[in-house]
Amino acid sequence: MTKLPNSQYLTWFNEIEKILWSFYKHFENLCSECALYTISSVKNSSRENRFNWCCCMIDNQVNDNWETLNNVQSRFDNNWYEKIKKNSFDLGRNRMPGNGPCPALGPSGCLLTKLRPVTCTTQLCEKMLIILQRLKIIPGFKSVPLQIEDIVPLKNILPILYGYHKDKKVKLEEKLEYIKAIKELTTRFGSIDRQIRKNIINEVILEFKK
Ligand code: SF4
Ligand code: SF4
Repeated sequence: MTKLPNSQYLTWFNEIEKILWSFYKHFENLCSECALYTISSVKNSSRENRFNWCCCMIDNQVNDNWETLNNVQSRFDNNWYEKIKKNSFDLGRNRMPGNGPCPALGPSGCLLTKLRPVTCTTQLCEKMLIILQRLKIIPGFKSVPLQIEDIVPLKNILPILYGYHKDKKVKLEEKLEYIKAIKELTTRFGSIDRQIRKNIINEVILEFKK
């Protein structure tokens, strides 16, 4: 039988994910524009650039991580899945390139209000990486997508906190180091002049729409 995740670790995970959300907020309207572009391509039956479509529409992290995610979410609400399914974004009968859309995707973004799958919590898609590179926050990158631990030298503690490796432990200092590093990254990203940041984001959005 699968052991339930450690509640202290989930509290730490939630603490870290909130800080990561502050980092991702600096991408402004990138994800909403990406989603709108994807919806419009689907409606127009245009599958050009489909591998650049909104990740939540082409992936299904709920399905891919079902066992662990269900263990985590059920600690707080046994009916979590039924609730998100009621509000899932409806893409009709359109077939998507991957196994998406993810059932946790609602009309305004992810319906999971905390403890999202690890990949969703740390993923940097190609558009994000290009933006970070053009803003000189990261050097060039060789592959896409990456996880946050690929651009900041950090121990990959989130899968352990989420309950994937029951035999491994995370020390308090490791959690604090992780938080410190993400806060520093967030400060660097946020300290760039907002108009400059928005211009680069819009530039990348336009390039991906071509
Ligand atoms: S993370 Fe990247 S691929 Fe996913 S919705 Fe945002 S911009 Fe699009
Ligand atoms: S769980 Fe949320 S963030 Fe992750 S793929 Fe599904 S909708 Fe997107």
